[in-house]
Amino acid sequence: MRARVALQTVARSAVGEARRRASAQTAKVTLTCCKNAKARVITLQNPTSRNAMNRAMMVELERAVRTLEQEGAAAADAWAAGNTSAVFTAGRGLEYRSVILHGAAGAFCSGADLSALEGMRGEPAARGAANGGAGLADGGGESLREFGRWMHSTMTGALGRLRALPQVSVSLVEGPAVGGGAELMTATDLRVWGHGSRARFAQASMGVSPGWGGAARLRAIVGEQAARHLLLTGRWIGAEEASAAGLCDASTEEDGEDGWRPGPLDAAGERSCPGCVAGTCSLDASGRRSVARLLPDDAPVSALAACKASLAGDESAAFLGVWGGRAQQGVLDRVAAARTADGV
Ligand SMILES: [Zn+2]
Repeated sequence: MRARVALQTVARSAVGEARRRASAQTAKVTLTCCKNAKARVITLQNPTSRNAMNRAMMVELERAVRTLEQEGAAAADAWAAGNTSAVFTAGRGLEYRSVILHGAAGAFCSGADLSALEGMRGEPAARGAANGGAGLADGGGESLREFGRWMHSTMTGALGRLRALPQVSVSLVEGPAVGGGAELMTATDLRVWGHGSRARFAQASMGVSPGWGGAARLRAIVGEQAARHLLLTGRWIGAEEASAAGLCDASTEEDGEDGWRPGPLDAAGERSCPGCVAGTCSLDASGRRSVARLLPDDAPVSALAACKASLAGDESAAFLGVWGGRAQQGVLDRVAAARTADGV
């Protein structure tokens, strides 16, 4: 009996090791640009576990947020100099208006990659404690507690900074968002849900509580009691319920329901993006369109950023920063021209 248990343990750890290796090879977080969506695109990809995040992915996500911060700061410099018409610019001069966060291959994200935790124990090993518990190079000897501290600080920091970006960010939720994955979608300004998407704050069932800064963000989005309900029941919720709670701002299924169909401009947009033409843009067309429809094309990104800043408690500075700028002048000129054309 004991021998069988030992064999099972060996077999399980071999499976875990194989999964860990497969995950390490294919798992990644990429930051690309879709010209058609006029967006920076953060893609989570871990095909072995519905885009659960391992350590390397968390580091890559943090790096992506840092790049977006730099691009946001460059635009903010232009706005401060009076050019409030400036948009965000990615490397190689690609201009964009928003940031889309999504998962590859029909899933959003299922939290932390549990295969990376196999073999870790609760308390620090003597070696891990001796080197300060960082253990970031190879994870060797790292305890569950040490990893948890690192993950908590890395993810809470990265997601807090993602939410604070001047760029408007949108989670495109396609498929399940579970545990940390559900926390992840609270880090963006808005959420678009795809067909069959569902979310579950499953942290308590996993023996833990939110650790990526998600509890406070969830409360800010849905309110105190709804947040308690979601965290304490751990129920699956679909797009309809999420929409009523404020966790879903649009659904990709809305395409066509109100008579909207992709027009010639959409087709032209797809032709204008090298990635869309080559099929390398990882967003699917309906998700891309839904995000594009959500954000008003005529709103300067400086004004959208100012709206975000005003919600963050800096209403005076935000307002005075865009009032009288080039973008507002442009809007006033357009209004005046339209009035002249109407003979008003
Ligand atoms: Zn594209």
